[in-house]
Amino acid sequence: MPYTAVLIPGDGIGPEVAHAACEILAAAKAPIEWVEAKAGVAALEAGESELLPAATVEAIQKHRVALKGPCTTPVGGGFSSVNVALRKRLDLYGAVRPVRSLDGVATRFSGVDLVVIRENTEGLYAGIENEITRGVVTSMKVATRDACLRIADFAFRYAVHRKRRKVSVFHKANIMKLSDGLFIRCAREVRDAKFPQIEYEELIIDAACMRLVQDPTRFDVLLMENLYGDVLSDLCAGLVGGLGVVPGANLGEHAAVFEAVHGSAPDIAGKGIANPLAITMSAVMMLNAIAEAHSDAALAATATRIREAYDRALVDGCKTRDLGGALSTSAFAKAVIDRL
Ligand code: ATP
Repeated sequence: MPYTAVLIPGDGIGPEVAHAACEILAAAKAPIEWVEAKAGVAALEAGESELLPAATVEAIQKHRVALKGPCTTPVGGGFSSVNVALRKRLDLYGAVRPVRSLDGVATRFSGVDLVVIRENTEGLYAGIENEITRGVVTSMKVATRDACLRIADFAFRYAVHRKRRKVSVFHKANIMKLSDGLFIRCAREVRDAKFPQIEYEELIIDAACMRLVQDPTRFDVLLMENLYGDVLSDLCAGLVGGLGVVPGANLGEHAAVFEAVHGSAPDIAGKGIANPLAITMSAVMMLNAIAEAHSDAALAATATRIREAYDRALVDGCKTRDLGGALSTSAFAKAVIDRL
């Protein structure tokens, strides 16, 4: 019996890379039946009246798992982020972004293997901004004890489950004494009460960034609030080859949405040159999550086959332009399929 998952192609390069990932999964005979749903500008273009149609949210609630391409977010005005709205509506409170060095992708460092865990529902992403008088605006950073405890528990459970050794909390509690102060106190509380076996450290984020770019291999699981997680995800992507190679999952109690860290990349959209690896890696994370939930060893093996195929493709020098190669999106997908 196939598993049903929602597919949201998204905007910009989203449809191109989502299509490539689906082709790879189909070639690997992954037993996934896709239910396509719209979100973002693509939803408006399809005649929907909302960027995040109720039918899309309901489809994810029903099938509980989705693979999503990026949705365009305008800078400095216009509508607010569909990606953020979806995470809030489905209470996908934990973002998991594994960042690892890939053989065949030459970067400054080798042996990077870390995971960014980002609180997905509050912080400055609460989007509460006011112009209190002309030329003076405020932006409210929200931290609640419940959400801070929940994401800390999530991060430590993740560390135990994945046999990780250390959790590093990045914060700025020396300046934001209340909000970031609450975040680290909650992390400490959860660790001391339930996970004393996991090594734990707190780092002020500016110094942490310096240490990350000096030696990323000293890090393991990174836990942080929403905005820091957004910024640090891209920084960490830069350590292993860029946004084309970092996948992600947004996880809640009732649903999971898998999506690459990158955005809709309007500068290269429609050119057929985007790297489909990040969304393919996200799809592999999705297959592994389904396999685990259903104790499906065959599906886990399919996920491993896909991972080994793209790892081999990179080692063989098959790369898109962002990695210094010349392959198109579809040619890279074919190179992976040839190695399945
Ligand atoms: P958002 O704010 O929506 O997260 P962003 O500001 O992080 O978006 P992206 O859309 O991720 O921006 O793009 C940043 C840069 O990385 C762009 O130059 C883009 O072309 C490049 N890029 C992003 N994703 C890919 C990809 N899959 N393949 C190749 N290049 C990419």
